[in-house]
Amino acid sequence: MTDLETIRKALEQVMDPELHRSIVDLGMVHDLELKDGTVRFTLALTTMACPMRQGMQDEARRRLLALDGVKAVEIECREMTDAEKQAVFGQSGRRRGSAEAYNDIKHIIAVLSGKGGVGKSTVAALLAVALRRKGYRVGILDADITGPSIPKMLIQGEARPMGSPMGILPVESKSGIKVMSINLLLADPNQAVIWRGPLISGAIQQFYGDVVWGELDYLIVDLPPGTSDASLTVMQSIPLNGIVLVTTPQSLAGMVVRKASSMADQLGIPIVGIIENMSYFLCPHCGREVALFGPSNAAELAVALRTPVLGRLPIQPELTVLADSGRLEEYQAAEFDSVVERMLTVVPEQMSGPAAR
Ligand code: ADP
Repeated sequence: MTDLETIRKALEQVMDPELHRSIVDLGMVHDLELKDGTVRFTLALTTMACPMRQGMQDEARRRLLALDGVKAVEIECREMTDAEKQAVFGQSGRRRGSAEAYNDIKHIIAVLSGKGGVGKSTVAALLAVALRRKGYRVGILDADITGPSIPKMLIQGEARPMGSPMGILPVESKSGIKVMSINLLLADPNQAVIWRGPLISGAIQQFYGDVVWGELDYLIVDLPPGTSDASLTVMQSIPLNGIVLVTTPQSLAGMVVRKASSMADQLGIPIVGIIENMSYFLCPHCGREVALFGPSNAAELAVALRTPVLGRLPIQPELTVLADSGRLEEYQAAEFDSVVERMLTVVPEQMSGPAAR
């Protein structure tokens, strides 16, 4: 016959997905009782705005109803008191507000371009979308604080990251990509942000370290364009495993991308490969590739930089339409799927890269 001990044991199997510990272990279960086949308890949450709230209740209900003699489950939610939060986070030795301790990020891949306007942010967002479609747990950090545009592509309408005792909770896109950007924190997203070097470094370290990313297979980082101080600072502030270079078929773009690559070399960060964006336009009438910006120089660049070409992407007007309305996740392109396939074959070899330092 089920007793309170058995019930407690069942609840020990229910994990807080962000904290990776059982709700019993975290001191979230209170006033547990069993009466006439009904289990009642209070679930104390770190914040009432906890996005995992429903999921944890559902899981608890499912496990308890599977027990012999349990006919109903009643759960009441409340917020943990300050003393309770202190007890839990103090006990685990974690500093309050230090999200890094809760994060387990397997690969951090940054996207860099030689100059602005080549589609770096679009490619970064598309990488996140394609990886998510493959079932990976994905986050994207908009570190292009000089022109943050990631939320506009992936989030529709108003969304704000929420605070929690562990740190800042990122906003989630429709398909579940965790998004963090300075734009999500500004009162007016159209406001220009002027950052000086030390501020950039501080802001980025905070974005990386104080955001509760949880468990991620891939964190994509959209770097500021070019070889400016801003991109250098960001590259030094985050333990990157690899860099994807985005370029367009113009000799100038090639030249600046070499510069970007040499910067990555100096920092000891491996280049995963090159993506040539706006490489051609597929004529809707004859189906031929039209080299609007001149012939592709991706192969040549790849040889010079000793890195693979991950793919060439066409100019697609519908991409801009989807990107401008927060619907980039609806974009389907075979070209991009093969880019990601190629990237995935390169990336695992690089996991002993700098992030493992
Ligand atoms: P960057 O981050 O390099 O400054 P963005 O990603 O912001 O560049 O892209 C600049 C503009 O070009 C955006 O309006 C974007 O929608 C558009 N764009 C990017 N890639 C493509 C593409 N392959 N086809 C059509 N438009 C694109």
